[in-house]
Amino acid sequence: MQNMVTIAGAGPAGLQTAIRLAEYGWPTKVLEEHEKVGIPVNCSGLISATGIKEAGINSEKILIDYIFGAKIFSPNGTMLEVRRKKPVAHLISRCKLDEQLRDLAVKKGVEVETNAKLISVRKENVFYQKEKRGELLKSKIAVGADGAHSTVRELMGLKIGPENFVHAYQEFVHGNFEPGMVEVHVGTIAPGFFAWIIPHSNKYAEIGIGTSMGKSNPKEMLDKFTEKIGLKRNYEIDRIASALIPCGPPLKNLVKDNMLLVGDAGFHAKATTGGGIVLGMLAGNECAKTVHEYFSGKKPLENYNNYLKGIHKELNIHWKIQQAMRKFSDNDWNKLFKEMKQARVDEFLEEHGHMDRPSQFIGKVLTTPRLWKFAGLAMKVI
Ligand SMILES: Cc1cc2nc3c(=O)[nH]c(=O)nc-3n(C[C@H](O)[C@H](O)[C@H](O)COP(=O)(O)OP(=O)(O)OC[C@H]3O[C@@H](n4cnc5c(N)ncnc54)[C@H](O)[C@@H]3O)c2cc1C
Repeated sequence: MQNMVTIAGAGPAGLQTAIRLAEYGWPTKVLEEHEKVGIPVNCSGLISATGIKEAGINSEKILIDYIFGAKIFSPNGTMLEVRRKKPVAHLISRCKLDEQLRDLAVKKGVEVETNAKLISVRKENVFYQKEKRGELLKSKIAVGADGAHSTVRELMGLKIGPENFVHAYQEFVHGNFEPGMVEVHVGTIAPGFFAWIIPHSNKYAEIGIGTSMGKSNPKEMLDKFTEKIGLKRNYEIDRIASALIPCGPPLKNLVKDNMLLVGDAGFHAKATTGGGIVLGMLAGNECAKTVHEYFSGKKPLENYNNYLKGIHKELNIHWKIQQAMRKFSDNDWNKLFKEMKQARVDEFLEEHGHMDRPSQFIGKVLTTPRLWKFAGLAMKVI
């Protein structure tokens, strides 16, 4: 049978799109360029508790640990601590998440072909490379869920400058850490983004940094960061991850001819934190719905852009926050942290902070008198 849809990329966005399409009853094939789904892992696997629910992720069998809050440090070491009694996030095995989604997709009838790299799409002809051989398959629709470096995005003629990406580098290390609490460090130590410590246990953690693409070497910046906070470099490195995170404004049009973009390929990642698992999967639901309605003769593919409006509204706020943060000097950060401590922003965030939907707590800032001094900043972002 001819595939109705071919999806490039077996990450969370591509697999979620495939699962939904199969549920609608459309023959779907996923091409994955790597030998195994889920490998290599270029992700921390941190997902907000609300995001887990929204995306319908079953985290039970893939959970590494619960996260209860964060310690956020300014350049001079001032700390804002946000700690909740209930988990705010789930730290999951990213490899196992992809495998779990792959298994579900296959169960629903999706064909997943590995070692298969999409090269080109010409109308209903999809060309891909299989172990150095060229292959061709017929498909009505091609979905680019092929990550930050998306080939499909290029085929659609969308050119995106390096300023819209962050280069992330992280090491998985053995040492001594506080479990359940993430550390975030801002300032010129991580130009254009931030540095982080995500503990898996009291003996194992991910230590990482993101920097504006092309502006500095993230590996060297990680060395400087660990030296600055006095983290002993005699720890044992298990493995490393180095990858790009899309951190630009939401794309205006994610459809061209019979091609659509979803997930990192379509810039469905939060520019503030780089998190893209949940929004990529939610966009996958919208992508599948769009294609289903198109096949059923109800609506054009361009309708996808309308379905994404809610997601793009939040992504736009994340991007504006990130743009504002990029301009901060270390002194600006230190001043802001001092004022936030005085205004008990940490207590406010404990109650109202939302990792995925900033529009919700920015609104609360405007109705909380002790935070009115930050209203100007919040309004600029909205
Ligand atoms: C260091 C780091 C840490 C992160 N931590 C988090 C986190 O804690 N929480 C969070 O929510 N997000 C995190 N992210 C972001 C998250 O990893 C991405 O947003 C998410 O993986 C996007 O999913 P996706 O399915 O769109 O793309 P991907 O997961 O990138 O999947 C794309 C797939 O497409 C395949 N592919 C690429 N090109 C082709 C082609 N031409 N043909 C066939 N296959 C192809 C790739 O091999 C890959 O398997 C992190 C990112 C980085 C870099």
